[in-house]
Amino acid sequence: MAERKEKFYLTTPIYYTNGLPHIGHTYTTVVADMIRRYKRMRGYEVVMTTGTDEHGVNVERAAKKAGIPESEYVAKMAETWRALWDELGIAADEFVRTTDLQHVRTVQWLFKLCRENGYVYKGHYTGLYCIFDNAFVNEPKPGNLCPDCDRPLETVTEENYFFKLSAFQKPLLDFYKKNPDFIQPEARRNEIIAFVEGGLRDLSITRTTVRWGIPVPGEEPHVFYVWFDALSAYLSAVGGPDFAKRGMWPADLHLVGKDIIRFHTVYWPAFLMAAMLPLPKQVWSHGWFLMDAAKMSKSKGNVVLPRPIVNMLGMDALRYFLLREVVFGQDGNFSYDALVTRYNSDLANGLGNLASRTAALIEKNFGGKIPKPGTYKPQDDALAKETQAAIGEVLERYEKMEFARALEAIWAVIALADKYLTSEQPWALGNSPEEQGRKGTILWTTSELLRIVTVLAHPVLPQSTEKIWTLLGQSGSVAAVPLDGLRWGQLSPGTQLGKAQTLFPRVDKNEAIERIEAMANEELNPAPAPTPAATPAHTPAAAGPGAAAAPAGIAQIGIDDFTKVEMRVGQVKTAERIVGADKLLKLTVDIGTEIRQICAGIAQFYEPDALVGRKVVVVANLAPRKLRGVESNGMIVAASVGPEGRPVLAGFLEDVEIGSRLK
Ligand SMILES: [Zn+2]
Repeated sequence: MAERKEKFYLTTPIYYTNGLPHIGHTYTTVVADMIRRYKRMRGYEVVMTTGTDEHGVNVERAAKKAGIPESEYVAKMAETWRALWDELGIAADEFVRTTDLQHVRTVQWLFKLCRENGYVYKGHYTGLYCIFDNAFVNEPKPGNLCPDCDRPLETVTEENYFFKLSAFQKPLLDFYKKNPDFIQPEARRNEIIAFVEGGLRDLSITRTTVRWGIPVPGEEPHVFYVWFDALSAYLSAVGGPDFAKRGMWPADLHLVGKDIIRFHTVYWPAFLMAAMLPLPKQVWSHGWFLMDAAKMSKSKGNVVLPRPIVNMLGMDALRYFLLREVVFGQDGNFSYDALVTRYNSDLANGLGNLASRTAALIEKNFGGKIPKPGTYKPQDDALAKETQAAIGEVLERYEKMEFARALEAIWAVIALADKYLTSEQPWALGNSPEEQGRKGTILWTTSELLRIVTVLAHPVLPQSTEKIWTLLGQSGSVAAVPLDGLRWGQLSPGTQLGKAQTLFPRVDKNEAIERIEAMANEELNPAPAPTPAATPAHTPAAAGPGAAAAPAGIAQIGIDDFTKVEMRVGQVKTAERIVGADKLLKLTVDIGTEIRQICAGIAQFYEPDALVGRKVVVVANLAPRKLRGVESNGMIVAASVGPEGRPVLAGFLEDVEIGSRLK
């Protein structure tokens, strides 16, 4: 039997299903995928786990609002997450759902072990409770009101099972001391140690007031509560009670956001110690991407979605930006401006340009075959030496999770190559044997540098490096190249180059940002679907918290509500199409008191010219919003006809004065 490779098991958090994946989740998953690729190239057998946390009272509520059973609701959400990771090329090896039978077994088994070892007891939990929402409230509004429904809260005591977390203060502190790398980065480690030194309170791990959870066997209506359930997913993904068979546990790395580091470095190791199971080797907490210095959140409306960026610039560009822009472990600022700037400078003008330039020169001077190097000059030797040194540095940076520094080192080599080509000017050399020989040396040297850069950048840029690999005429996949065997001088002269590849086409910054914003806007605020059944499952309207239900009937409103809507007769002054938005027209409309710019989703059914002069109904007091990057101040009223919702503009049979109000 072949000797088994060394294993590496890493996880992302098991994401809470009651929301949609945004750039924050994408960041963690991209980092995990990058580490997975890197470790594989270093010869490890790697398993990466992600998944969805599907229990709890919030899921119960969202399902109720949507009018579907919880099981159906979470199945849809899990599919949304799974599909996005697939689409982005970062699907994990294991996708664990906390409603999986294997996971249920694992949680119950872990509980049994903790209880047998004397770390579980029955007690009482007292807290503020909302009878209406059927949930304990941790952060009440002033005056002890429910933050969700504003009703007064009551103090309720319920029977719970408790985990004896207090017994693990010393064992945990000893463990941190013996394993100084367990909590990373350093600043987080110090915080956690201070927290544990401050004393640990026992932890309530079951509820009788929550219905949608994993039952405690023989103790119904107790179900497991949040962390005892969710954290166990890392273990259930690789075998649960039978983890030894798979040989992946303990985890080598849990990647987490800094908001959940405490649960992963205090609760989780304590549960495992209580069950006498092996502990994970490391927990790495990364920072957040901030948008205009505020944490992204759906309620603030500053959420960045991955899909529009990928549609515009490609997944590799997003990966590169996320890993290059911030020091892993710290917070970073996210801006489309910085994203597109980096794309153009580092990818289009940097790596992409080096690859296409080198290939074009070889094509022109050597019929597309990688030339044989002749005699080296000192500048050739210097470039070889610098590139060889970069291999060691990049691997060391990757190993220390210094991704930005690793990429900096790779791009420093790319910059050297640009400088080298500019000073050596192979295109200015003639066809004499001597000059042709010199050209060969320069172009072999550049190609060899490009080959090494391609291998080193592969974990971060998996798609484009495969393209460059093919362009360089290399066989197989770059993913299969062992990083530890990578050295200067391995490129064979005479290799026929592959077909030219489009790598990173340069984009106009303003146009690119506008298009990304427009696509994001459309994903966050989808046009209302004509029928509830036609609403795609992945839109926020169908799945976001608090917006889960498509109303079964239309609620009645009073006259007061109706008079809040200011509808006026307007006349279209100008109409034009919007580049990159095939459904939208940009109109200017005279509403009597002023001329408004309004976007309308009617471009597929109305010619702009035919609209000029037409009288329309305008909702005049709709808050301004941006559609495809274009400001819209108001809305044109139209009927939505047929299953595809064809718009038909509302109008008048008699002549009406511009600005008249509809009542
Ligand atoms: Zn409430």
